[in-house]
Amino acid sequence: MLRILIVEDEKPISELIRMSLSSAGYQCACVYDGIAAADLIEQETFDLILLDVMLPGADGFELMEYIRPKGTPVIFLTARGTVADRVKGLRLGADDYLVKPFEIIELLARVETVLRRYHKLDRMMEVGGLSIDIPSRTVMRDGLEIPLTKKEFELLLLFARNPGIALYRETIYERVWESDYLGDSRTVDLHVQRLRKKVGWEEKLKAVYKVGYRLEE
Ligand code: CA
Repeated sequence: MLRILIVEDEKPISELIRMSLSSAGYQCACVYDGIAAADLIEQETFDLILLDVMLPGADGFELMEYIRPKGTPVIFLTARGTVADRVKGLRLGADDYLVKPFEIIELLARVETVLRRYHKLDRMMEVGGLSIDIPSRTVMRDGLEIPLTKKEFELLLLFARNPGIALYRETIYERVWESDYLGDSRTVDLHVQRLRKKVGWEEKLKAVYKVGYRLEE
């Protein structure tokens, strides 16, 4: 499981991020000031750090000094959407930034993009009787390859990375088709039905009333 450090002194924001990232299958640690963050960054290894700029103790820019030697990817969280701050963060070695307030779906997309850039997501997964080889996009069951279309594979991966979580059709559509959901559920439903049949998840991939679908753990 990938581990993400959240350095954010506004507790409601920190908690929202933690809950969202946990739901998406990441393991999270939270610290609320710059000094505690520096200690933790020196002691532990994270796959990604979400770093607020304005913090008590030491600010996000100062913390980059501790992060850079470890090579951990960083996404800055900033309330100050000024060009100067964004440029400063990026110059100091941040991989991306998010201007508060942001949509959770945007946070998750940016986290994934950065993790992918660092090949953190390139790995094998064993889910629901399937072996999923993500780099080669092959799916095997009992040693036999199951051919999937591009969208079916993305759909499979989305469920595989979010077991036990009811995913809204809107989320599924936006993540797999990478465009805005206009309320037409047929595309999602059709693809889910075909995926279920192909990979043998008739019992595992459950419809959730008025929501969408959930992969049973
Ligand atoms: Ca702050």
